[in-house]
Amino acid sequence: MFAVWIIEYQAGLVRYFDSFGYGLTIIVILISYALSRIFNRNTLAKTLVFVHAAIYLLMLAVLGFLSAAEDGNLYSIATSLQWIPIIYILAFLFLSKRLAIIAAISVYLILVAMLLLTFSGLFPVQNHELRLLMVNMSLSHGLYIVCMFAVVRLKRDSKKQTVIARDLEKAVNFDSMLKIANRRHLQQLMDSYESNQQAVTLLLIDIDNFKQINDTYGHQAGDEVLLTLVECIKKNLRPSDVIGRWGGEEFMILTQDALGEDVTILAERVRRAVEHETFPHVQDVTISMGVADLNDGLDTESAFRSADRALYKAKRSGRNKVVIHS
Ligand code: GH3
Ligand code: MG
Ligand code: MG
Repeated sequence: MFAVWIIEYQAGLVRYFDSFGYGLTIIVILISYALSRIFNRNTLAKTLVFVHAAIYLLMLAVLGFLSAAEDGNLYSIATSLQWIPIIYILAFLFLSKRLAIIAAISVYLILVAMLLLTFSGLFPVQNHELRLLMVNMSLSHGLYIVCMFAVVRLKRDSKKQTVIARDLEKAVNFDSMLKIANRRHLQQLMDSYESNQQAVTLLLIDIDNFKQINDTYGHQAGDEVLLTLVECIKKNLRPSDVIGRWGGEEFMILTQDALGEDVTILAERVRRAVEHETFPHVQDVTISMGVADLNDGLDTESAFRSADRALYKAKRSGRNKVVIHS
């Protein structure tokens, strides 16, 4: 727009109205930017840009039209009309769909009213070219509005598809009851750590004597224990740690930056937290844990086997224990 202004200025075509209009446009854009970035008032910023552009460009068109009807010079109305579609674009980008349609059609009707005026004989110059220009504008601008409407519908459809895709991804990767990663997702994460050669520690968790809990208090009580257990474990993890359900009453924690000593602290903290947690229905719930590293040279499967062997050792040595694979 600035380049157009320079060219028009050098050609002596900048009207008095434009000489401050461009400056005002820059100020409005700066204010809107500040409203959106600093004050987080996005809707207000967008509405301001739209209202300014609509008023400014429409006034240009009306003034250009009046001067063309006066003296027959088409330059100013022709250039104004070519900028009007910006109003339609801003309306559909910045306003709600309903408001955008109302705004775009209102602007269009003003232009059509100008077209009708060219046939009214009100103006001193009966300009044949001006009429043709306005007919041309009515057709092309009508088409622009229809196109913008189609784009908005496409955008809405694509938003819907994105939501569906996100829900599907959740359904495929998360456990529906416990709302944590499922085995498939854990496997994917481990595979990506392995292929990116990122070190990660696997903590394999199994509830002690869980079958007995089910047998004594019922399956429903067992489910509630699982929910409480997951919440308890989550409270003792760091944001970067991932907890998932490996299957049944077995869970896995994947933790990075916890190789060596730290991981013992993490594992013990989780084990002790479960030991001291109050569970619904059930008196005491404990877990056993097998820990192994997935680092250079190891593949996912052998790291998992190591964690599983460590877990087996924890069970054999009396349960409610953490065993680190060495
Ligand atoms: P151990 O200390 O050796 O691990 O003994 P355990 O009783 O925990 O192990 P076992 O493998 O014999 O039993 C696991 C039980 O977990 C059997 C199964 O019915 C139960 N289970 C698995 N998934 C669920 C579930 O989603 N909800 C409930 N309530 N029970 C489950
Ligand atoms: Mg088990
Ligand atoms: Mg068990």
